[in-house]
Amino acid sequence: MFATKLGYQTRSFQAAAEKLGVEIVYVTDRCSRLDDPWNDHALAVHFELPEGAAGTVLEAQRGLAVDGVLALGDRPTPASAYVARGLGLTHNHPASVEACRSKLRAREVLRDAGVPVPWFRSVALEPAPEPTLLGIRYPCVLKPLSLSASQGVVRANNRQEFVAGAARLKRLLDSPEIRATREPHLDQMLVEGYLEGREVAVESLLTEGVPRVLAIFDKPDPLEGPYFEETIYVTPSRLQAAERHAIELSLLGAVRALGLTHGPVHAEFRLNAQGVWPIEVAPRPIGGLCARALRFVVPGEAERIGLEELLLRHVLGLPGSDALREAEASGVMMIPVPRSGILEKVEGEEEARATAGITSLEITARLHDFIAAWPEGASYLGFLFAQAAEPAEVENALRAAHRELQFTLTRRLPVEHPLSHAVPPADRP
Ligand code: ADP
Repeated sequence: MFATKLGYQTRSFQAAAEKLGVEIVYVTDRCSRLDDPWNDHALAVHFELPEGAAGTVLEAQRGLAVDGVLALGDRPTPASAYVARGLGLTHNHPASVEACRSKLRAREVLRDAGVPVPWFRSVALEPAPEPTLLGIRYPCVLKPLSLSASQGVVRANNRQEFVAGAARLKRLLDSPEIRATREPHLDQMLVEGYLEGREVAVESLLTEGVPRVLAIFDKPDPLEGPYFEETIYVTPSRLQAAERHAIELSLLGAVRALGLTHGPVHAEFRLNAQGVWPIEVAPRPIGGLCARALRFVVPGEAERIGLEELLLRHVLGLPGSDALREAEASGVMMIPVPRSGILEKVEGEEEARATAGITSLEITARLHDFIAAWPEGASYLGFLFAQAAEPAEVENALRAAHRELQFTLTRRLPVEHPLSHAVPPADRP
């Protein structure tokens, strides 16, 4: 199991593995100088050097039977693909996974395969780009090539917003926290046409190149920028059957173009009068706590299973990976960060939990830590979960519970770096 961080998602996998009698070996890029501080015997590698990371893992696993490989989050996906190839396991080809890791490469591959994509181009951030000379049209979206969770994604409606957005993105990509990720192409951005329309997230599972949609999540809050922090996800989708079918076709076209063949795929699409547009296709499951919004019914089994158990069963070829999502509507709110600051106080938790339809609330931001708002931010204050008979009830429950919560965020002294306490992105959907 490849993961940037050992947290709630790996704990859920651990619980599912124990239930299935499976042993998980963790591979992470957390600091390798510490001697197993989490006491989980995880292998430490550098995900930004995927082939080197794979060599380390293959060496450590020599002679041991490995039945499947899974990656959580975007960063570890290439290393996991090289390891799977080295072990001869059914998995996505490393070149496909590498293409998904670069927003620029993914756009090129989709465009060349005839999948609808907005116009796009990569632009160097130094010297400061002049959009008039580059022939940029508006509105457009500026984004880093390889970050996640909408971090650094900015809409520009005119030249002035473009120039300000590019400068802001450059500051973010130059920050020590982002430099420390050693992601490639931190000196560039992708600029692409802004796509109007509603957005959905799709969770799916690929087997021999064929995607099975596990859930389509509506995103009922408009995501029109200038920044693109997520909020509410609700499934099942309230879109018409024809629109849902068009999304499934678009997903199929995108995974075929990218050459993805096996395992979880999390994708985002925009829908408008011109059709369905893939925004992002990632060979990994929905991130962090959001997976808790999904539960599945295995025929003949009384207990519902989580996404983690479904994925373990799938990757190991165990029965039950064809389980369907439960019948009830379900949803999650990634609790937005109203502004950057130090989280001093959280009030209203009890009231939020007591709201009809709410099944749980997790405040994941730590008290007295700095939390960054978007576009610099990449972590939410927490997560609210709801369940009800109908999607509208789930949405209402999430909104009502959110109204009960008050977060006191204090500004901090301007001498500090704006990101110096930011938590690394881990809670992305
Ligand atoms: P990340 O991988 O960091 O989430 P994405 O490319 O998926 O970055 O963009 C994040 C969000 O920004 C999307 O979910 C969408 O809401 C918005 N967005 C990105 N590109 C566009 C676009 N071309 N048109 C409209 N909105 C966009």
